[in-house]
Amino acid sequence: MPKTLIKVDLGKAPEKQDILPHNRWHPDIPMVAMVKPGSEFRVECLDWTGGQITDNDDAGDVRDVDLTKVHYLSGPVGVEGAEPGDLLVVDILDIGAFQESEWGFTGIFSRENGGGFLTDHFPEARKACWDFHGVMATSRHVPGVRYHGITHPGLIGCLPSHTLLAEWNRREADLIATDPERVPPLAAPPCADTALLGHLDPNLAKEAGKVAARTVPPREHGGNCDIKNLTRGSRIYFPVYVKNAGLSVGDLHFSQGDGEITFCGAIEMAGWIDLHVDIIKGGMAKYGIKNPVFKTGRMEPHYSEYLVFEGISVDEQGKQYYLDAHVAYRQAALNAIEYLKKFGYSGEQAYVILGTAPVEGRISGIVDIPNACATLYIPTEIFDFDIRPDVGGPQISLSPGVALATPK
Ligand code: ZN
Repeated sequence: MPKTLIKVDLGKAPEKQDILPHNRWHPDIPMVAMVKPGSEFRVECLDWTGGQITDNDDAGDVRDVDLTKVHYLSGPVGVEGAEPGDLLVVDILDIGAFQESEWGFTGIFSRENGGGFLTDHFPEARKACWDFHGVMATSRHVPGVRYHGITHPGLIGCLPSHTLLAEWNRREADLIATDPERVPPLAAPPCADTALLGHLDPNLAKEAGKVAARTVPPREHGGNCDIKNLTRGSRIYFPVYVKNAGLSVGDLHFSQGDGEITFCGAIEMAGWIDLHVDIIKGGMAKYGIKNPVFKTGRMEPHYSEYLVFEGISVDEQGKQYYLDAHVAYRQAALNAIEYLKKFGYSGEQAYVILGTAPVEGRISGIVDIPNACATLYIPTEIFDFDIRPDVGGPQISLSPGVALATPK
């Protein structure tokens, strides 16, 4: 087992950890540890909310979650010799839950606090809690399914440079200015009050917090990509923007469907991740890399059959869009939800299944004017019953009365 470089205490608030996490991106966040290229090490992570969500049947915590505090990241870990322009090579060796915390959660955020891909259809806060059985997950809130997890970090990346950070702030502020009152907002601007910048001197952190980037979107450095295939055995090549790279990780997911559509849509967990790092000197220019590139691993759940739902660039009101993949994927998801409801699931339960199961999402066609064709692949083998269409019609075998947790 590799040496544990960063430990967390699940009984303590993020601000009380011995090694402080960070919930913003800023180039001045001090490295919490240094490693040499070629090292293997373990990093422990809080869940992305820092313990705001608990394993119970009350979704009040999801409704009231403070989203300006997330995501809590472990790091940055400095890599000796890494310089701007290099590639940081990161192998994801293994990931797991803590023995005392073998559970996870999925939230549907309320429209007023976070929203999600289908927030117009599911505007109320809901929660599902999951139990882990080795590589499998089940939920007392979602009957009739059992999946093998495709475990991965939702969020992993290196620190941005001052120049890159300024560019992020410029372009995201420009977008927000196009519709500043929108709910949910178009982007998440800096928010100094709840910024936690690791071990940065509190006097410096006050100023830095005003410009430090929120962790919500993926950006050039990686960040909150929520790519389910960054699983065990994968290798990621990160562009390096600051001296020693500054690698941070968090938001571990036991499982997730492509798109993480409920937003808090994966099976979220606290846990540990084992990493190996190396450097390719000057790799950004050598390979023309500006955003991360990764090589898939060989440790994925093997499902052999999928039922696939199509969606096109026509919205729920019948309005035609031009090759809009976002609209098309929404239609594919809504079509899948309508179908699963015929087997006894609530719309919310079906939504949560699409967000958490190892569902494949694809842009199947993007040139056939005016419709993009998005497809959503549901593995049929995750269900305890047959979901394929046949002449007999859908057979309902779910025990009645099982529902997602609501706010009490
Ligand atoms: Zn997450």
